Amino acid sequence: MAWLSYFLTSMDTSEEKYYRKCLRCKERQVIVACGNCGGTKLGRGENNEGTLGLFCEQCERGYTRWTCLSCKTNNPIAKTIVYWNSAFKNDD
Ligand SMILES: [Zn+2]
Ligand SMILES: [Zn+2]
Repeated sequence: MAWLSYFLTSMDTSEEKYYRKCLRCKERQVIVACGNCGGTKLGRGENNEGTLGLFCEQCERGYTRWTCLSCKTNNPIAKTIVYWNSAFKNDD
């Protein structure tokens, strides 16, 4: 669970080292800037139901789920964030 300690601070998506990993097809996709305003800093947050997710620090739009581009699976943010650098390259 290498992501946890990083998840507690904001992520800078311009560094391109944060990934989301699909529960179904295991494909990794880099986490990109906010689709609403283009903000690159994403913080940890919860929605009104207490679901863990990410929110944009610029426009405060929240994201708790994402849809895999490959298999269309709807994934929860809280279980699929991965911090990935060379040390984790072969870590599945
Ligand atoms: Zn998938
Ligand atoms: Zn935003």
